[in-house]
Amino acid sequence: MARKRKASTGGGTKELLEGMKVWRKAHPKATYVEIEAEVETRIKGLREEVLGEIIGMSAATESEGQIVHCPECGADMVGRGKRKRRLQGAGGSEVELERVYLECPACGAGFFPLDEELALLPGSLFPGQQEGLVRLSSWMPFGKAAQLMQDLLGVSCSKATARRHTQTAGSAYVALQSEVADQIVAQAPLAKAGMEKALLSVDGAIIPLVGGEWAEVKTLVVGEVTSRTNRKGETEVKTRALSYFSRLADAQRFQHLAHSELHRRGIECSAKVAAVMDGADWQQGFVDYHRPDAVRILDFPHAAQRITGVGQVLFGEGTATCHEWIEPRLHQLKHDGPEPILTELHNLQLQHPQSKLIQENLAYLEKRVMQMQYPRFQEQGWPIGSGCVESANKLVVEARLKGAGMHWQRENVDPMLSLRNLVCSDRWAEDWPLIVTRLRRQDWLRRKQLRQIHRSAPASSLIGLPAKK
Ligand SMILES: [Zn+2]
Repeated sequence: MARKRKASTGGGTKELLEGMKVWRKAHPKATYVEIEAEVETRIKGLREEVLGEIIGMSAATESEGQIVHCPECGADMVGRGKRKRRLQGAGGSEVELERVYLECPACGAGFFPLDEELALLPGSLFPGQQEGLVRLSSWMPFGKAAQLMQDLLGVSCSKATARRHTQTAGSAYVALQSEVADQIVAQAPLAKAGMEKALLSVDGAIIPLVGGEWAEVKTLVVGEVTSRTNRKGETEVKTRALSYFSRLADAQRFQHLAHSELHRRGIECSAKVAAVMDGADWQQGFVDYHRPDAVRILDFPHAAQRITGVGQVLFGEGTATCHEWIEPRLHQLKHDGPEPILTELHNLQLQHPQSKLIQENLAYLEKRVMQMQYPRFQEQGWPIGSGCVESANKLVVEARLKGAGMHWQRENVDPMLSLRNLVCSDRWAEDWPLIVTRLRRQDWLRRKQLRQIHRSAPASSLIGLPAKK
């Protein structure tokens, strides 16, 4: 059964109120903050009392002594005594659970029925606190998240605890999503309802790893393109419902793993799809693989950057002449397409045959003529320079993984990225329960494995004694 850990406050809201009235008379000039703090302190005791009492009413506790069948093999399980577990909840309240441990004499499986019934996660935090801690850690450094848990919720936990829980949850989510990708490839399930006009975009961002190494994280953004006519009668194109998928993986692996997100958004059966990107080869390969018919659009700012590069060669960086040269050409590119500027760049190249930069920029743009048909893209209602991946890199990846002094262990990058995707795609409520189920399943398997090691190991090795020869 469950027991409250600390002495009871005397119990009940009535006593709480009476006690507060006495306190108030002794503190007639208390501020709101002081009053609230006093109420909180008293509620903490009440909370422990109520929680302890109510948890004690669990079916698993009520049915003590009844026959439970082994979930692994179906044999009757045997009680192996009671063990205590302490859990920390909101407001610093602590509840001690005393639970029966059941073991299967046939296969050795063992578990605490109460833990299972309450769907507890491994660790000393209540499930809600653990969720809060992981969620906060997805937004900010682990130390800060632990501090906020203490300051806002009165839950004391360390930076190491925040890191451990977050990495475990993130790893579980990564594993879940990878399995989904494998299943999609293996079983080709029915496509989900698609969008009328879908936008996808992929790009890379560099993050720091431990040991001074840098690595490229790839991010996919999927969005729905909508357009509406504003008051001036102009058409405004918007990309909404953005969702993200990021991994530290090579192009081929990323292409495979991204199935989970693309399928979820119904990309394979969306009526029209456009891919906005900076035109790197792996990005083209990604689109060829997932939606070969997608309209390819070179992100306008990337095209603009190349033209700016030429302007700087000709007139010097940041000069007024440079600016005067660039502006009308960008305008022209946007409204008349790439042909005029390409012709001009050709002529410039002839005039400045020694300039490598003009040559490079021209080569880059020429290779992407079809992706720079901006007047047509706009006419079709596509965004041309959404920059939504650029901002995805900042929002999803860099904001959490590129902080001052941060260096990531390679194996911890994907777990954090997956949680960043989760929070930035606004899917916490939808996907956190899946993570919980997986964490509990993993814990079950881990304990099973431990038992097997225990059963197969010579008894002496388990207590740290040298094995008999
Ligand atoms: Zn069994």
